[in-house]
Amino acid sequence: MTIANGRSYIAIPGPSVMPDEVLQAMHRPAPDIYSKALHDTMATLLPDLKDVARTDGHAAMYIANGHGAWEAALANTVSPSDRVLVPCCGAFGHGWAEMARGIGAEVDIIEHGRQTPIDADAVRAALLADRGQTIKAVLAVHVDTSSSLRSDIAALRAVLDEVGHPALLMADCVASLGCDVFEMDAWGVDVMVTGSQKGLMVPPGMGFVFFSPRAAEVRATMPRVSRYWDWVPRSAPEAFYQYFGGTAPVQHLYGLRKALDMLKAEGMPAVWARHARLANAIWTAVDHWGQAGAMRLNVADPAHRSCAVTALALGKGQGDRLRQWCETQAGVTLGIGLGVGDPEDPTSSGYFRLGHMGHVNAHMVLGLLGVIETGLGALEIPHESGGVTAAAQHLAKLNG
Ligand SMILES: *Cc1c(COP(=O)(O)O)cnc(C)c1O
Repeated sequence: MTIANGRSYIAIPGPSVMPDEVLQAMHRPAPDIYSKALHDTMATLLPDLKDVARTDGHAAMYIANGHGAWEAALANTVSPSDRVLVPCCGAFGHGWAEMARGIGAEVDIIEHGRQTPIDADAVRAALLADRGQTIKAVLAVHVDTSSSLRSDIAALRAVLDEVGHPALLMADCVASLGCDVFEMDAWGVDVMVTGSQKGLMVPPGMGFVFFSPRAAEVRATMPRVSRYWDWVPRSAPEAFYQYFGGTAPVQHLYGLRKALDMLKAEGMPAVWARHARLANAIWTAVDHWGQAGAMRLNVADPAHRSCAVTALALGKGQGDRLRQWCETQAGVTLGIGLGVGDPEDPTSSGYFRLGHMGHVNAHMVLGLLGVIETGLGALEIPHESGGVTAAAQHLAKLNG
């Protein structure tokens, strides 16, 4: 007997739940790629994306996932044998570092483990030690989706300015954009990368790179940039095909147009506030359950938690059991633990993650929590019952 049939819910940290409106907007035949209507739609996308990123700088779109956006950012600014500094507090920091190695850069990693965010003091020390100022860029993941740590990006700008170091500040906002507060210009970010399938609520397949005037200057000094990754024609195309260096991903563009309309109608401050409220409800439930048994949030300090994704520990093997139960018995897919294992638990079987990015609201989050509590009970995993009630009381209080 299963109670899983009905609308399923993929609560993993990307791809996120796509709004029906977005999927319906995509469900149409390809237009003539030379039509005025398509060109007019396209002209609206970059300005609206920049509003979401909170920048007056430049933006370029790619047919790519987040890894492609990583590569695009580097391809325009970093040459083989250039140095980059990568403070890491999760698997995605290491992923971007690996991408930099792939293009021949020398990579200095600052390792913060999986429970503490990027430490601006450690970055300051590394910049001061770089007496010749050869570090070309600092690559910082805003929200590392594996650990669910959120780092203070503005603090890194402050440190670069204080030390007087010319390195570009690059931020990975694949998980955080449209969920956690992010202010590209106000925080002094030179390059920001993101993808379509998380806070932007569009299926995977588009990558975005935003860049400041100073990053554009650095690009202009590059000895060589591959034609396909070059952000110059994409951000200021003279011909329509240059937006994508070839045929545009037209259905994605229709979906993106709809998603940007939805974000615009809600307004970014309201979008951020919604994610913060829902994330707080999740943490409240987890803290409650954890009063008995092994469940705990990966990030102890609420100030360092993302409002887009939550990583949790439940004890070896139990994360996998719970995920299995929720999916097969209740139609909810939880995210796997990623890159948080240790010698005792090399596959991260005791961990899981909840994606709460993009198109999520109270009934989805309360449903998610209700299913988790039901699964904990069904599997007889020790916990303090009443987490859902605690979350509901939390939301009720906030709503006045
Ligand atoms: C998802 C994610 C990526 C990678 O995106 P892909 O589309 O899977 O290539 C990179 N960085 C962060 C922080 C992410 O959450």
